[in-house]
Amino acid sequence: MTAIASTLTTTDELRNRARVALTACGVGALDGPVQARSPITGEALFGVPGADADAVRTAIANAKTAFETWRTVPAPVRGALVKRLGELLTEHKADLAELVTIEAGKIPSEALGEVQEMIDICDFAVGLSRQLDGRTMPSERPGHRLMETWHPLGVVGVISAFNFPVAVWSWNTAIALVCGDTVVWKPSELTSLTALASAALLDRAARECGAPEHLNAVVVTDAETAQVLVDSPDVALVSATGSERMGAAVAPRVAARFGRALLELGGNNAAVVAPSADLELAARGIVFSAAGTAGQRCTTMRRLIVHEDVADALVERLTGIYASLRIGDPYADDTLVGPLINEAGVEAMQRALAQAVEDGGEVLVGGARREGLYVEPAIVRMPAQTKIVQTETFAPILYVLTYRELDEAVALHNDVPQGLSSSIFTTDQREAERFLVASDCGIVNVNIGTSGAEIGGAFGGEKTTGGGRESGSDAWRAYMRRATNTINYSDELPLAQGVTFT
Ligand code: NAD
Repeated sequence: MTAIASTLTTTDELRNRARVALTACGVGALDGPVQARSPITGEALFGVPGADADAVRTAIANAKTAFETWRTVPAPVRGALVKRLGELLTEHKADLAELVTIEAGKIPSEALGEVQEMIDICDFAVGLSRQLDGRTMPSERPGHRLMETWHPLGVVGVISAFNFPVAVWSWNTAIALVCGDTVVWKPSELTSLTALASAALLDRAARECGAPEHLNAVVVTDAETAQVLVDSPDVALVSATGSERMGAAVAPRVAARFGRALLELGGNNAAVVAPSADLELAARGIVFSAAGTAGQRCTTMRRLIVHEDVADALVERLTGIYASLRIGDPYADDTLVGPLINEAGVEAMQRALAQAVEDGGEVLVGGARREGLYVEPAIVRMPAQTKIVQTETFAPILYVLTYRELDEAVALHNDVPQGLSSSIFTTDQREAERFLVASDCGIVNVNIGTSGAEIGGAFGGEKTTGGGRESGSDAWRAYMRRATNTINYSDELPLAQGVTFT
């Protein structure tokens, strides 16, 4: 396997690059107890100020006050703020992408793609600000009108994961702002710099647009202090993105206070490859989804369910491509696979591979640990879908299983707790249609991989992925409160269902 063996960019260079990007985005000098690190060298860059429980409470109180004003601003005027945010994100695309690379270890092309996603969702939200529409329904009573109206919800608490350090915030925030909500954001502790830079750009947009103060606050804090956000009755919606473990801790607490939770949790995404598939196209789609972002996307392809007749040919192609994947410093030319986020991620990958082998799996390619936080993406042929295959390991491991009948493939596909993204590679339309119906995921693709969703569609998944939907389509409804209105414009007072009360 070819790779750039050692790190090229030093921690000092990363620190300088980060400083330049932060300053360009409007973040001043930093100092504090939270260590911002880069997985590129595995070393600390800066100390960042953290938020204690009182600071989180203050942020919520300020956001609640700001909501009282913001909710009364007409939605298209709210859209003007998001439009300005989109312009600033465009202007600072390279700066933010730099920080994404430094903190999350993404290769520059993927980091730029993440910021483009932020710009795209701003565009979407601006259009949406003129389309927050409700329905009218026929009333059963003469001289009456029945309709639904949508109203701002309140303070939205956003908890986000390290692997999409800014896109997920923007999915939530751009939509929440046009819906008339205010936001308190708890980013991953692993990616606080990108969070501070994004929040600074929104603060600037808000100032320039004359929007109320405190529409958006960022609280750099740990999971324990984040309970203030989770438990606060003043936070109407907790939109939480992260592991199933995090969702299992957060959801019951929000439910206990009858709050609203929008959960975007782990995936265990699979592709089915049918005998009729275009194997060249499939191989390209699989490699991007399985090894891209070093296997650290929620939509990363973790399982390949391939028909026996084409399994050897496909696996041979894939192992050939994997053997030439360039692994290493994301800043090095042509790198495709950057580092894992931290030591825990590397260890989890090694443990999963050992378990897979114990379960009878054969590592066909990759799996070795390189210097630092770099690993070789692995392909492992499994005799059966054992527990480790049913578990999301947030690292580049692709488990290969084989099938004979499509029903068998679908059964294997659905036999995991998670339900985020899925795909089938086939040129048989009947098979494609059957899979579109049978997959139990929130995202079901044909002839593309499992990752790389566009913002126009609703994003999210079923089962332990949490059931939430963010981003495009009608996902905005989660950020608003629905009211059903009945208006009597007659001189009579007929009661529904023909009830009389005189
Ligand atoms: P994580 O669960 O460790 O952390 C995510 C966020 O939740 C962090 O900000 C963390 O501090 C916070 N957190 C953790 N426990 C908490 C608790 N009890 N209360 C409040 N906050 C808590 O996840 P991660 O390692 O940062 O990210 C990887 C995971 O996120 C993977 O499982 C991946 O699939 C998932 N993810 C899902 C989506 C999606 O849209 N479905 C998108 C991105 C990432």
